[in-house]
Amino acid sequence: MATFSLQRLYYDGKPQTCTSGKTFQSINPATEEVLADVSIASNADVDEAVKSARAAFPSWSKTPHVARARILLKAVQLLRDRNDEIAKVETADTGKPFSETSAVDVTTGADVLEYFASMVAGGGLNGETVQLREDAWVYTKKAPLGVCAGIGAWNYPIQIALWKSAPCLAAGNTMVYKPSEFTPLHGEILADLYTKAGLPSGVFNVVHGAGDVGAYLTAHPSIAKVSFTGQVATGKKVAGSAAGNMKYVTMELGGKSPFIILPDADLESAVDGALLANFFSTGQVCTNGTRVFVPSNMKSDFESLLVKKMQYVRAGDVMDPATNFGPLVSAVHFKKVSDYIKHGIEQDKAKLLYGGLKKPEPASSSTFEKGYWITPTVFTDCRDDMRIVQEEIFGPVMSILYYESVDEVVRRANDTPLGLAAGVFTQNINLAHRVIDQLDAGITWINSWGESPAEMSVGGWKQSGVGVENGRRGIEAWVRTKSTLVDMSGVVATSFTKL
Ligand code: NAD
Repeated sequence: MATFSLQRLYYDGKPQTCTSGKTFQSINPATEEVLADVSIASNADVDEAVKSARAAFPSWSKTPHVARARILLKAVQLLRDRNDEIAKVETADTGKPFSETSAVDVTTGADVLEYFASMVAGGGLNGETVQLREDAWVYTKKAPLGVCAGIGAWNYPIQIALWKSAPCLAAGNTMVYKPSEFTPLHGEILADLYTKAGLPSGVFNVVHGAGDVGAYLTAHPSIAKVSFTGQVATGKKVAGSAAGNMKYVTMELGGKSPFIILPDADLESAVDGALLANFFSTGQVCTNGTRVFVPSNMKSDFESLLVKKMQYVRAGDVMDPATNFGPLVSAVHFKKVSDYIKHGIEQDKAKLLYGGLKKPEPASSSTFEKGYWITPTVFTDCRDDMRIVQEEIFGPVMSILYYESVDEVVRRANDTPLGLAAGVFTQNINLAHRVIDQLDAGITWINSWGESPAEMSVGGWKQSGVGVENGRRGIEAWVRTKSTLVDMSGVVATSFTKL
């Protein structure tokens, strides 16, 4: 029997029964139990959700910025009040340990909502005035786009929903949001929470379903913008479809990011960083530093410390506060990651330093008889041409690559069509900045990894994405600019005047 009630669609300010009559199941990845039946939106249901968002737009877009902010800040308070309750739902849906979801997922979403609400209340949507001549000037106005679509991935469900809806709604747009079909449970919770905060009916709407529902939403003629988070291959389809109607897009896609240990790095801190950059969220983080570049002369010290510290990756009951490593999100993803590990061993002939194709050692009484559990895995002596080094695995699989010179590591780090994140570990501040400057990635860290606060604009370079989320630039992706030239002295004409 399902743990949660039927998950419905949400538009016109309330849950709605789908007209397709069809459902899919949300599965707990740690136990394989059915969590909920989830309503699949038909095209007619998506049309209704878009209609609801269109109807809400004129009034919401004209609501004073401070009044909009007040409602969104109320939602921030509700999110923080209900942090643990929502984190438990996210743990059930994603398999991520509660130690993680309770500290990161809801909090980082609420922070971004607070950031954008405060920004618009503080004049962040004001335009500018440019004086041209004494009696002529240009003023600009930032206007919302209209009805926007948000399409989410499964790794940070409610965080992604908030990172999209926060700037969207703060800027005066309305949204139809589709969660990933693997982690749909936050959808109705967030929509209901927004309603309880006072958000007018139709401003935030939710439809459920798989790629076909996302594709119909993307192509919908009433959608002005699509903000998408997911795989590069899907992103290309979504951007292609959106281009048909000249829709605005933001694309937050995959990566295969270089984690570079420079020759004078503090080894302890570099190893801690490499663990975080590969095994947090069971490796299911888009910015993971899965290509770990290490100076050749640090090989034995790095490997022995890394293997020693692997004991701190603790799989177990996902509700146990000591557990920091959960299962993979789904059976499909388990097969994908397992196939990559198999390929690494059998085809790439990479040297297995830790883990492999087996279940993890349980740190508590868990048996892992059920669920999509996999051991954290480390390959060493890897080559750049190996498939496990080139492709995003999106699981707990680290590849160690050795290098001789800094010029060499920069060239190899950049030798990928992806450019989401990159980082260096070093005690040499000059070298840190020089190397970071040469790396082709949109999100970079020095002696740190993974932190992505609301104030930091984040987005991928190359095939890892288009545009940014968060930070001051984050709001610009949800507005269009109207420029008005005023001339107090009348028309300036050179051709059509009396000679
Ligand atoms: P995915 O591309 O399989 O699916 C993402 C979403 O797109 C889902 O909601 C899915 O239903 C929908 N979808 C599928 N086909 C579609 C279509 N044709 N049109 C419209 N929507 C469609 O991605 P995933 O497996 O859910 O997520 C993992 C990926 O997300 C990884 O590559 C990861 O790196 C990336 N990711 C990126 C970021 C970032 O900020 N750059 C953040 C999180 C995850």
